[in-house]
Amino acid sequence: MLPPESRFPELMARIAKARATSPLSAPYIRLVGASKSQSAETIAALLSAGLESAGENKVQEAQAKWGGTTGLKARYPQVELRLIGPLQTNKAADAVQLFDVIETLDRPRLADALAEAMARARRRVPCLIQVNTGEEAQKAGVLPKDLDALLRYAREQAGLEVIGLMAVPPAEVAPAPHFAFLRERARAFDLPQLSMGMSADFETAIAFGATHIRIGSALFGERLG
Ligand SMILES: *Cc1c(COP(=O)(O)O)cnc(C)c1O
Repeated sequence: MLPPESRFPELMARIAKARATSPLSAPYIRLVGASKSQSAETIAALLSAGLESAGENKVQEAQAKWGGTTGLKARYPQVELRLIGPLQTNKAADAVQLFDVIETLDRPRLADALAEAMARARRRVPCLIQVNTGEEAQKAGVLPKDLDALLRYAREQAGLEVIGLMAVPPAEVAPAPHFAFLRERARAFDLPQLSMGMSADFETAIAFGATHIRIGSALFGERLG
């Protein structure tokens, strides 16, 4: 199987090509390597090859690979680490210590827990709100109808720095309407970051204004588990 660092240039070329279709005036599209279940050494090879951002789904798994004096953050201090999986309130403090951006804010109670953890750690971590655009029962994210209220709460009550929106559209449908909805909301609220698009649909997401694409299998190969 091809090592990820040899897939990386080809993926960057596809992103560069898709950039021409972006509606953004100065599109800079950030590749976020979705590195769940990948080993620290596999990720390290990509960081050495120039990957600038990575996304992890679980706080504990991320701590094991990225934390500590010998972890990936210590070895690659310039990397931006983003939380892209659901966050429990009792892990908020750990998440605030480790991550540079939290993409999965989706409820007022979590906004409170993050605000408290940030105050205690004296560290401000910008957040994206995850929107459950498909209104799927099993999926994380705030429902579209509750987005405005959550954004207002997170900013005004909790005092968080909300910089964008994130979504994972349903698997079996065309993602374009979901991307369009997310972009429309981000524009309405003047939010600069739009995290949308994965291996199967990132070119579509870029055409709808994605600023951050979260890529797993197209970068690392198919996941084993
Ligand atoms: C795993 C994952 C991705 C990447 O998915 P691929 O289809 O492998 O590119 C993106 N976003 C989230 C939230 C993920 O959990």
